[in-house]
Amino acid sequence: IDRLVELEKTGTPSVSFEFFPAKTEDGVFNLLNRVEEMGFQLQPTFVTLTWRSGFKDEKLWLKIGAHIQNEFKIDVLMHLTCHLPQEQLRVILQNARNAGIRNILALRGDPPIGAERWKAVPGGFRNAVELIRFIRQEHGDYFCIAAAGYSEVHTEAWNNPNLPPSDQVRHLDMVRLKEKQDAGADFIITQFFFDVDKLTQWIRDCRTVGIRVPILPGYLPIQNYNSFLKFTNWCKTSVPDHVVQALNSIKNDDAAVKKYGIELAIDTCRKLMGQQLSLHFYTMNLASSVRSVLEGLNLIPRRHERDLPWGLPMLRRKDG
Ligand code: FAD
Repeated sequence: IDRLVELEKTGTPSVSFEFFPAKTEDGVFNLLNRVEEMGFQLQPTFVTLTWRSGFKDEKLWLKIGAHIQNEFKIDVLMHLTCHLPQEQLRVILQNARNAGIRNILALRGDPPIGAERWKAVPGGFRNAVELIRFIRQEHGDYFCIAAAGYSEVHTEAWNNPNLPPSDQVRHLDMVRLKEKQDAGADFIITQFFFDVDKLTQWIRDCRTVGIRVPILPGYLPIQNYNSFLKFTNWCKTSVPDHVVQALNSIKNDDAAVKKYGIELAIDTCRKLMGQQLSLHFYTMNLASSVRSVLEGLNLIPRRHERDLPWGLPMLRRKDG
């Protein structure tokens, strides 16, 4: 949070990346190499590591996070949800602390697949606010805590899935977001969006209701038409007409969709930077689109020749 506040003061956009943990040994190896490469070349303020509700082994999640934090010296923000009872969360938080983790994104989590509504597990928390309070109670100021925000209102708060939420519903969702700040959240990362005007208006409204902490817009560069459709339907994300039209004419051409996704991301990020906002990228564990976007924005830090004679300090497999 100190770095975010510092960057905000100087008007420098913070750039950060979300990754999800790999499941296999090869996957972990590839992920760590990608994080290291992106960390070295693009110098994010921090990276995040998601939490999966069906985790069988959170030890791997923690091991990956600790490696990024301690070996790569990149600040890592670990996502954590309320899918587990309080006692288990207590142990995970202590283990994270013992492993040198300082940042937690406290989330409620999605309802299990097939369920319409969230139901707390026995001995668990009902929402993110309760988890944030718990972390503060147990660990004081040790952890920097982030929380999730929804510029188009969380889908569960929509009264009618076919109609945009009323002003009253929008306001209530925002009041609940403020509760996260009041419970101890240090900053907010938003769900992805495509309508910049809606996002920036929502941020202004957040300020009006008293949300003062930094708000980082989360952006998902379009990489593929089908996944774009899947995610926007799932989150009921509004897509401006010009984006729908542009995609309609190229949807069967994967390379053209990816290229358009990068151009749109550059345009969107320029608008965000014009309003002194930061950039948080949902990378989907892929580097190339995000790198192209940052190149387009002139945000790739220049490195001195002397940093590079041995190339990137990539991980080496034990077998060489
Ligand atoms: P909350 O804010 O607790 O609740 C969600 C919504 O429920 C609120 O917006 C509000 O509309 C309603 N609500 C809250 N409190 C009340 C109340 N008292 N009464 C009635 N309604 C209420 N999911 C994962 O499983 N793993 C991840 O790693 C992950 N990472 C994410 C990262 C970001 C940046 C974002 C935006 C989302 C992420 N998610 C992740 C998804 C997230 O878990 C879901 O969106 C989930 O449905 C809500 O989590 P939350 O923390 O926003 O919940």
